[in-house]
Amino acid sequence: MIKRYMTFGKNNGIAPYIWTILCILPFYFIFQSPSTIQIVVGILLTLAFFILYRIAFISKGWPVYLWTLILIGISITANSLFNYVYFAFFLAYFIGNIKDRVAFLTLYFIHLICTSASINYSIVLHEKLFLQQLPFVIIVWISVILLPFSIQNRKERGQLEEKLEDANKRISDLIKVEERQRIARDLHDTLGQKLSLIGLKSDLARKLISKDPEQARLELKDVQQTARTALSEVRKMVSSMRGIRLKDEILRVKQILNAAQINFLSEGEFILTNVSSLTENILSMCLKEAVNNVVKHSNASSCAISLKQSLKETVMTIRDDGVFKGEQEILADGHGLIGMKERLEFINGSLVLLIKEGTTLIIRVPNDVKSGLGKEAGKND
Ligand code: ATP
Ligand code: MG
Repeated sequence: MIKRYMTFGKNNGIAPYIWTILCILPFYFIFQSPSTIQIVVGILLTLAFFILYRIAFISKGWPVYLWTLILIGISITANSLFNYVYFAFFLAYFIGNIKDRVAFLTLYFIHLICTSASINYSIVLHEKLFLQQLPFVIIVWISVILLPFSIQNRKERGQLEEKLEDANKRISDLIKVEERQRIARDLHDTLGQKLSLIGLKSDLARKLISKDPEQARLELKDVQQTARTALSEVRKMVSSMRGIRLKDEILRVKQILNAAQINFLSEGEFILTNVSSLTENILSMCLKEAVNNVVKHSNASSCAISLKQSLKETVMTIRDDGVFKGEQEILADGHGLIGMKERLEFINGSLVLLIKEGTTLIIRVPNDVKSGLGKEAGKND
């Protein structure tokens, strides 16, 4: 039980203090009783309540009903003997933690009816001690009505969050598997083929070396050339695996636009904060594709690229002053723009295509939620 209080306390700040007071409070009421027997009975009831409360928490199946009904009985007895209603609060907390929906609803209504009846009975009897604490009694009664549902909702939300986390983890595992398969495919298609070619050609050269040295020399030259090509392909593969940083991509973009004699205008720092490397990679890919389109299709004389980060999202805009050649509905048809849109949707981002005095692409991606980093992102507002 203590452990549970501590767990409860971690989430609620002052809750442990309230629970401690509620644990000590019964004795205050018990010691107000006129007879020693009543005091002894009160102490025994309180101890029995806490022991059974602990047992009820670790029980499963039908014993849950049994222990809860006994606890409700003790709670009502404490109310009628000592005007102590606060056990009802403990019970509301316990009932809120019952996982089984039927058990939860059954015990919730039994507890609510019993507690309401016993409170009303004490009010009717005009118990002095009871009436003195009427505001607290009302608080307990409201807790009996609301607390179990609020705990259930909190638990359900927690479970959903766990499931979501699980699903995200599985997605990232699948991405890793997919990436491994891609690397394996690339290795097989490039390096594998080249190495077997090197093997075949060097074997041939070995056989030809005494019969036809000139042909063997040509074959060895081929081997050398193939090895060089393989090396450059491996380098390309490795650099494509490294992921692209936005600030590196913007340098490349600048060079491409310069080469195409398109004026390059930039706005904002291209250093991202509060954004995962996957998001940055996708933004870089989108930038690359958007600028390729500007160069390929727009006939523009200038291209402006801006990046703005707010607390919640990052917005990248690529605007050119050329002429849009396709249909706006092209977004639904395929090619580079649709690939961009799909990648962005994967990270809950969005793509908007505006055709007015040129073409404007507005790319929005949500920032990662990380405490403390928000302030930094805010600086770029
Ligand atoms: P891919 O990207 O697969 O090489 P693509 O560039 O033709 O092919 P998208 O990038 O989807 O495909 O672009 C679709 C079409 O939209 C283009 O063919 C082009 O007509 C038009 N378009 C896209 N961006 C621009 C732009 N900045 N200016 C003018 N037209 C554009
Ligand atoms: Mg394109």
